[in-house]
Amino acid sequence: MSPPERLIKLPLLGALLHLRSEALRCRGCLGLLDENAEAGLCGRCWSGLVPLPLDRCERCALVHGSDRECPEPVAWTHGDALWDYHGGRPALGALLVPGIKAGEWGWRAALLGRAEAARLPAFTSDVDLITTVPAHPWRRWSRGFDLAEDMARIVAKRVRKPYAPLLRKPMISQRQTGLSESKRRRLPQKAFTLNADRKVDGKTILLVDDVWTTGTTLLRCAQWLTKAGAGEIRVLTLFRAL
Ligand SMILES: [Zn+2]
Ligand SMILES: [Zn+2]
Repeated sequence: MSPPERLIKLPLLGALLHLRSEALRCRGCLGLLDENAEAGLCGRCWSGLVPLPLDRCERCALVHGSDRECPEPVAWTHGDALWDYHGGRPALGALLVPGIKAGEWGWRAALLGRAEAARLPAFTSDVDLITTVPAHPWRRWSRGFDLAEDMARIVAKRVRKPYAPLLRKPMISQRQTGLSESKRRRLPQKAFTLNADRKVDGKTILLVDDVWTTGTTLLRCAQWLTKAGAGEIRVLTLFRAL
């Protein structure tokens, strides 16, 4: 090999070997990928999808004892999530959801595959309609999907009930990101509009979202649906931040 060729080939080989060893590492814990790995995350990281504590409240999904009022406002009869947002080390929900929203399509497919197989709460089976907390139209358009809608469609298929986007977010609305907790709670009620052609009178509606943190957005949506005449609201999310 002549000297100039060696200069080109050796760094290239080194780079390829480096890439190969990186490809064998888990993107969550940086450990080696095992036989249960999927979408670049090892089986141990995927086991971070842990259910919520058994003694949680059936409305707010937090553990606070049956003699105490729900610490966060709820406007529904049943509320639950498939997994704890901070379950696992590193916290898997907190790794997956922002990653998926930034374009990790492999993570999205793997997570939704697990949602298809997860145990659903019994209260999801006898609802009339399934809907979602709506995403901002621009954000949904730029991402090409909406995780809450993905989840709602999976639940609708599993319980054999119709999915309908009942609420809309106006094109121009105040972004919640970066706002303080107290400001989020004081957001004007007019953050959503109801799709006028949908009849919700007296219906039991399952409201679906991706992550349930303070529940402020869920609360607004539930209030809108109730105002529109819905009979009962229930809530299900992929993750609950405890
Ligand atoms: Zn891992
Ligand atoms: Zn509660």
